[in-house]
Amino acid sequence: MHQYDISEDYSNSSSKMAIAHPQEFRLFWALDKDGDGFVQKAELLTILESNGLTRKDQRLVSLFTKMDAIEGDAVVFEQFLSLTQTVGPLVERLLRGELALPDFKQFSEEVKVEFEKVRENRSGEQATYIPPLAEVNPEQFGLAVISIDGQLLEIGDSETDFSVQSACKPFNYCFALNELGAEKVHQHVGMEPSGQPFNARVLMNDGSGRPHNPMINAGAIMSASLIKANQPLHHRLDHVRQMWSKMTGGSMPRFNAWMAQEESRTGDNNRALDYMMKAAGVLLNGEDSVDHELRDALELYFSACALEINARELATAAATLANGGVCPVTEERVFSEDNVRNCLTLMQICGMYDGSGEFSVKIGLPAKSGVGGAVILVVPQLMGICIWSPRLDVIGNSARGVDMATRLAQKYRIHIYDSNSMLSDRPDPRMQAAKVRSEQTTAALRAASFGDTRTLRRLYSEQISVEAGDYDQRTPLHLAAAEGHIEVVKYLLEQGVDANPKDRWGGTPLEDAELGEHQNVVKLLKEQGAVSGAAQHINSDVGITEEASVHSDSASVAVLLWAASEGDIETLQRCLASGVPISVADYDGRTALHLAASEGHINVLNYLLAHDHPVHVRDRWGTTPFDEAEREGHDEAKNILDQAQIDFHKLEVKPDSSEMNRVIRFLDRVTQACGVKPVIHNKVASVLDDLLALLISQNEAKTNFLINIRINVESNKLQIMTTFNGPEWNPFEEKCSDSENQEDDFDIAGIEIKMIRQLSDLDSRKFS
Ligand code: GLU
Repeated sequence: MHQYDISEDYSNSSSKMAIAHPQEFRLFWALDKDGDGFVQKAELLTILESNGLTRKDQRLVSLFTKMDAIEGDAVVFEQFLSLTQTVGPLVERLLRGELALPDFKQFSEEVKVEFEKVRENRSGEQATYIPPLAEVNPEQFGLAVISIDGQLLEIGDSETDFSVQSACKPFNYCFALNELGAEKVHQHVGMEPSGQPFNARVLMNDGSGRPHNPMINAGAIMSASLIKANQPLHHRLDHVRQMWSKMTGGSMPRFNAWMAQEESRTGDNNRALDYMMKAAGVLLNGEDSVDHELRDALELYFSACALEINARELATAAATLANGGVCPVTEERVFSEDNVRNCLTLMQICGMYDGSGEFSVKIGLPAKSGVGGAVILVVPQLMGICIWSPRLDVIGNSARGVDMATRLAQKYRIHIYDSNSMLSDRPDPRMQAAKVRSEQTTAALRAASFGDTRTLRRLYSEQISVEAGDYDQRTPLHLAAAEGHIEVVKYLLEQGVDANPKDRWGGTPLEDAELGEHQNVVKLLKEQGAVSGAAQHINSDVGITEEASVHSDSASVAVLLWAASEGDIETLQRCLASGVPISVADYDGRTALHLAASEGHINVLNYLLAHDHPVHVRDRWGTTPFDEAEREGHDEAKNILDQAQIDFHKLEVKPDSSEMNRVIRFLDRVTQACGVKPVIHNKVASVLDDLLALLISQNEAKTNFLINIRINVESNKLQIMTTFNGPEWNPFEEKCSDSENQEDDFDIAGIEIKMIRQLSDLDSRKFS
């Protein structure tokens, strides 16, 4: 007999890799729906896509290439590992639900709905002052959102080029800041709203003669004049385009020479502004500025306005600002944080022409629009948005752009002055809805079950409900009563909570107090008019109880349990990927398996069982998941759980020594559930090892066989039985005996272990 070191038993390479890469294996395991060691390629692709990680993302090129190279649809762990290693922590964060827009799929669907409503808005007129703008089809409408993690949403004409026009102004300002620093740049341009139209021929009257800010024409011409001032014009334009390509993750903006020419042809007002600035002595070379310097600044400005770009690219540039200056898809820093902060502030107060104030009040985001119909929005630390549609409102902002921005701000908590209260009826797209809900409900329930009145008082003062129920409609009053916390019961009743809320089983707090034999609570509740609700609990006694796990992060536990109760596999996967043990129980001993059984969610039951969720877990009332399925009349769930209880006694192994680890885990589980002393494990394992060794040496064919283990605690017997192609042995019935039995008895630590080799005639000859 010998001892087992589990790690040595991993002879197969997948398992070895799993040990070497536990983090990644956890992700793989979470995705492996039926626990068979494979993840479907199609499913991986769906997860990437539904989270906005697309083939357009250059960070993911090698990931997709590797994925395409995998033959067939099954991905094994080695392949998965190599896939995740190509993209760093992105996949891990994705699978844990930690990307900037955690509920990307839902967000996308909602935004699409709003987009279609805005499509109906045909108000406004497109710009007609030059033919290249007048000729654009005004029906076009595109939107792109890109999160600071590079999650991309595109709707409508998001790939159609349009003239960037004044949407170039914040970026030109950033280019100048990059080159010269804020102090120098602001010697030439102010930081104040002008209170005048964007092209007004006014300069600051503070004695400086500077243009008011970089978002109006005079200021933007000034920014252009500062960019690579000593270089020839074509180098300067090249530089501007290179900078654009850094912000957009690699694509060069196109240059529309006709547009630039037309801008210049009709650009006398801008010329006037340029000369006013010269006269005010505020250009780079002051009053000594010469004509060609002025002309080049204007030409660069016209050319920058005449760049063409699509909504996706412009949204990426906006996301670079949202991301503190780092382009989300290349992860390359383009601007310093300070420069971004300056730019966003000025966009916030001056970005939307004469509508900037109202826009800032209503939408509350740094934004910039242009006569080409673009509106960019920056949601700091979250995402960049570009909405493009050519018709402009009377102020000169894209009518659909403003409409869409307004709807987004009405729907989500993205206004920079929105509170971060969890009580808002508008969701914060930064937060996973499943987590928000759990955080809201769990705190009070847990506090009540721990007798923590202080926390309940705090929650109450924060207007968080101390009455709301969980997935089983268990309320704080139920739990305080169940645990006999009379102070909490008193406090809750004082706050006017319902004294007779009914839980899933019809039970009231009074029954909880009675079950817990908390006489003082019973008395108090009765005084307050509490009644019994005649709760229906059932518990079958199969003589086995498996322990649920504990996990310190109660909000995560609640996320898992809510997900199980709602049939939400995706959230379950995220929980597992984040390291929440699958078999955690709440304050009532309720597990994911109980909830899936109660609600009859077959997909969840199968997922949980495939991930080794214990089947004989018992809640506060001694009820198992099987009992719950039975009580609710979910027949399919009942059958699955019935089979799982039978399978609990049975392990199918291949004749291969690498299987030993599974055998040991299996044995641990069974012996623990049956209260068998842990010291026996190694000895039993040795017996099994002998058995396996024998089988391997004798059985050259790769047939699967069964090892059935039955532990009968009452008779203090443990039986191990192997079956070759024999009839299946049902551990709840007597063993079948259609073939010869050879029995060996082992007396181990006070328990009799009976090893029954149940063999066919042929095999028994081999063993003799
Ligand atoms: N090129 C235009 C101008 O300077 C820009 C118009 C705009 O988008 O505000 O007048």
